[in-house]
Amino acid sequence: MIRSDLLQNIGGYIDGRWSPADSGAQSPVVNPATRELLANVPQMGRDETLRAVEAAEQSLCKPTSINKRRQWLAHIADLLVKHRDELGRIVTLENGKPLKEGKGEVDYAAGFFRYCAQHVTKLRSRKLKEQPRSHQWTVHYRPAGVAGLITPWNFPLAMIAKKLPAAIAADCPCVIKPAGQTPLSTIALVALIEEAGLPAGRINLVMGKAAEIGGVLCEHPSVRSISFTGSTEVGKTLARNVANHVKRLALELGGNAPFVVFDDADLELAADHLIQNKFRASGQTCVCTNRVYVQRGVADAFTSKLVERANRLKVGDGMLEDTDIGPLIDKAGFDKVRQHVEDALAQGARCVAGGMPPTPPENQGYFFPPTVMRNVGENSRCVIEETFGPLVPIIEFDKESDAITRANGTEYGLAAYVFTRDERRARRVIASLQFGHVGHNSGTGPTPEAPFGGMKQSGFGREGGIEGLMEFVEPQTEASAIVQH
Ligand code: ADP
Repeated sequence: MIRSDLLQNIGGYIDGRWSPADSGAQSPVVNPATRELLANVPQMGRDETLRAVEAAEQSLCKPTSINKRRQWLAHIADLLVKHRDELGRIVTLENGKPLKEGKGEVDYAAGFFRYCAQHVTKLRSRKLKEQPRSHQWTVHYRPAGVAGLITPWNFPLAMIAKKLPAAIAADCPCVIKPAGQTPLSTIALVALIEEAGLPAGRINLVMGKAAEIGGVLCEHPSVRSISFTGSTEVGKTLARNVANHVKRLALELGGNAPFVVFDDADLELAADHLIQNKFRASGQTCVCTNRVYVQRGVADAFTSKLVERANRLKVGDGMLEDTDIGPLIDKAGFDKVRQHVEDALAQGARCVAGGMPPTPPENQGYFFPPTVMRNVGENSRCVIEETFGPLVPIIEFDKESDAITRANGTEYGLAAYVFTRDERRARRVIASLQFGHVGHNSGTGPTPEAPFGGMKQSGFGREGGIEGLMEFVEPQTEASAIVQH
């Protein structure tokens, strides 16, 4: 069982009180590296969520000043930094990622609170310089209402940190629903928010029966916006369920990121960036490369650089100092990667690094070696679907236009990466890519300062940047007659 000063209360948090499930039911949280039990958390449902929404609704009636919100956001950022090591440990224990990534995730999360603290003044009312129709026009940024925030397990702290600061900045009370596999980081965050002195009802936390909780958030009239990160399938369910209630929805869904290497690219750089981009969180990120397109003339050279680097990566328990790649989150995740490897092999591909691990015994995590495949067919599952694991399929191409068509040949549009030294080619290719985030000679992912989000079936809405800050506000325009004295 996990012991932590930040987890003195393991429960939901409703109206300023830590709460068990009404039924007393609990769900286990396990360490994916060892499959040891870390904690039992309440399995809440409809009634607890209704109370959480009602508490948030009450809080909405007590608006706070921009200055107060700025102080809260800065205070939470400071607390995250202060507890960096412990939070990083909790992230690693429940998610499995290497400890250096767990601690890096805390810095990243703190960055979103810090950014919103610094820019919340952008939500001050602004008077238009123009005075059309002899009126003084003012735009007020009103809180949209209670916000439902639903997060996945792959970044247990960062995913909520991409949503919550913007909601706090907008003065929207929240109901948070973390993923069943990784609720502990959110519980620790809420403990810090309590320490930062936010009033009861402002931030509420429920966990348990996803469809019941999601149902209340979609149907309750006081919940005016839902921000969701997770699978496309659940995103579509939410889109259907909110349609009747006409509420705001921000969806950050699956990706199928292409990584395109042209023959004029710096291959060392491209290989280094691909390794960092692809194997972070064991390949379980929505921005990590899913398929690699290499121009034919450099395919052998690039592959050997990649294989050499992939073979150096150490797979193991994230708590161990020298681990580069932790386990996959669970059996379903492991089985999916295996099926993708099997399917590619059946279609003529071959493994040039890694390969198929046996099913682990009960007391061991679902570790998967970094795997590189060549001659991968375009119709392989690992090219069409998001693998969400440490598998790199390499596909060769000849012409620039061919690379663009194939890169865009997916229903997703979250992240893409392009490596070329030719600046004009880069401009052409980037402009043609239908992805919300494009790395140019870089595999870097999102940052708190820039808007991030998807095109096509990867969703809509943005997190980060000024665009992310605006997600939870309703602009209200006031046209006041100018009285002539
Ligand atoms: P993943 O494949 O990453 O687990 P999911 O989309 O299944 O992605 O889960 C992301 C989040 O959505 C989790 O917090 C999960 O509990 C929640 N969730 C799953 N089903 C629903 C639903 N019907 N309504 C609302 N939230 C849901």
